[in-house]
Amino acid sequence: MTVSVVLYTADLRVHDHPPLRAAALSAEEVVPVFVRDPAVDRAGFAAPNRLAFLADCLQDLDGSLRERGGRLVVREGDPVAEVRALVRRTDADEVHMAAGVTAFARRREARLRGALEADGCRLYVHDGVVTVVPPGDVVPQGSDHFAVFTPYHRRWAAEPLRTPFAAPRRLRVPTDVRSAPLPHRSGVPDVSPGLPTGGESEARKRLAGWLADHLAAYEDRHDDLAGDVTSRLSPYLHFGALSATEAVHRAARRGGAGADAFVRQVCWRDFHHQVLAARPGAAETDYRPRPGGWRTGADAEDDLAAWREGRTGYPLVDAAMRQLAHEGWMHNRGRLITASFLAKTLCVDWREGARHFLGLLVDGDVANNQLNWQWVAGTGTDTRPHRVLNPVLQAKRYDPEGRYVRRWIPELAGIEGPAVHEPWKLAGLDRAAVDYPDPVVGLSDGLARFRLLRGSAD
Ligand code: FAD
Repeated sequence: MTVSVVLYTADLRVHDHPPLRAAALSAEEVVPVFVRDPAVDRAGFAAPNRLAFLADCLQDLDGSLRERGGRLVVREGDPVAEVRALVRRTDADEVHMAAGVTAFARRREARLRGALEADGCRLYVHDGVVTVVPPGDVVPQGSDHFAVFTPYHRRWAAEPLRTPFAAPRRLRVPTDVRSAPLPHRSGVPDVSPGLPTGGESEARKRLAGWLADHLAAYEDRHDDLAGDVTSRLSPYLHFGALSATEAVHRAARRGGAGADAFVRQVCWRDFHHQVLAARPGAAETDYRPRPGGWRTGADAEDDLAAWREGRTGYPLVDAAMRQLAHEGWMHNRGRLITASFLAKTLCVDWREGARHFLGLLVDGDVANNQLNWQWVAGTGTDTRPHRVLNPVLQAKRYDPEGRYVRRWIPELAGIEGPAVHEPWKLAGLDRAAVDYPDPVVGLSDGLARFRLLRGSAD
C-alpha cells in the first residue's frame, strides 16, 4: 500500500487544495495531519480568538474528510518530529504541504526537508495554496519584490488564474494511526463574545451568500461602516478554510465593478505576503525607517491604555476598538482610522498597536497585520507616508449618520445624527449628561507633535 502524508498548516480545507489533491492522486492511502505546535504559543501567536476559530476549522475539516472516507489526524509537538514519526510508522514515500511565507514557516519547511531526506521520503511544497500568486512569481526588474502596490497589482492581474480544484471524492486513511482528540472552542477561555464560527463549510456558505447579495455594490459600499457589507471572509482566508484563488475565481466570473474592487482587495493580501516573504524582518523592524522615533513614558502609556480600551474621547476610534474587543474583527476603515490615530496622533510605536491587534484579531496575520500597520504608520509601503487621517472628518464621511458609533458606544446612544462624532461640542447640561471622556489630545496638537517628530510639513 502506498502512503502519502498531507501536513496541514494555514490551509484548513478540502476544496481547491493542491497538496491533498496531489497526495490522493499519488498514493492509495493518505494521512491528513495537523500538528499543534507549542512553539506557536511560545512565540505569542496563539490568541484565544484564533485558537477558538482554529478549533472550529479543525472540527469542520475532520467532518469533511470523514464524508470522503477519511479523517483528520491531530498531533501535538514539534511538526518535524511528529511528521517524521508518522512517515516511519506508515512507511510513507511522500509528504505534501503548502508553501509558507513567514520566517517561522520557512524554517519549519527547511527542517522538515532535511529530516525527511534522511529517511528517503520526498517533501513536496505546493505554491498557490495560501496566496493566489506565489510570492516571488512576479517581481520588478532588479528587485526580489514589489515595494509599491499599483504596479504589483497590474502585473498580478495579468497572471493566469488557476482553475480551482474540486475536493477529492474518496480518501483512505490507514487505520492504525492514532490521533489526539480534536480541540473544541468551548475549551478556549477569554474568547470574544461575538466571534464568528470557523470552518470551511461556514466559509463556503458565507462566500456564496455574499457574492449573491453584496458583491455588486462592494465598490460603492465597502467603506460604509454602519452598512457593514464587506465580505468578512478574512478569518477564513487567514486559516485557509477558503482558497483565495477560488474566491477570486468566483467573484471574477460574476464580473462588474464590484468584482474588480473585491479582487483588488484580495491582491493587497498577496502584495503584503510577497513583501514579507522577501523581507521577513519587516514583521518587527521598520520597512522604511523614518526619523523621529515614538513617544514613550507614562503619558504615552496612558494614551495607549485609553486607545486599547476604547476611551480616547474620539467616538469613531473608540467604537472601532470596542468592535475589535467584542467580535475579534474590525472593519477595514476602522483599522485604518484607529491605527493612524495611535501611530500619528498619539505618536505611539506601531508595534504596540500591532501587538494589541494580534492579541484579538481572528484574522490576525503576520503579513497583513504587521505590513498594514507599517503602511499606516508611514514606515511601510505607503507612497504618502506623512498623511494623517482626521478621525472626526473620517467619521462624518464614513459614518455620516453616526449609526456605527451609537451601535458600539451605548454612552452616546442618546445623541442623534452626526453630532455624536463630537460630543465635546454639546452644550452645558447636555454634555454633563453624557458619561464619556474628553479627547486625550486635541487633533491640532497631535498633528503638530507628529510633524515635529517626523520633521515633515505635509
Ligand atoms: P473585504 O473588504 O471583503 O476584502 C476581501 C479580502 O481581501 C479580505 O478578506 C482580505 O483577505 C483581503 N484584504 C482586504 N483589504 C486588505 C488589506 N488592506 N491588506 C491585506 N488584505 C486585504 N487583514 C487580515 O486579513 N489580517 C490582519 O491581521 C489585518 N490587519 C490589519 C491591520 C491594519 C492596521 C489594517 C489597516 C488592515 C489590516 N488588515 C488585515 C486588512 C483589512 O482590514 C482586512 O483584511 C479586512 O478588513 C477584512 O475584512 P473583509 O474580509 O470583510 O474584507
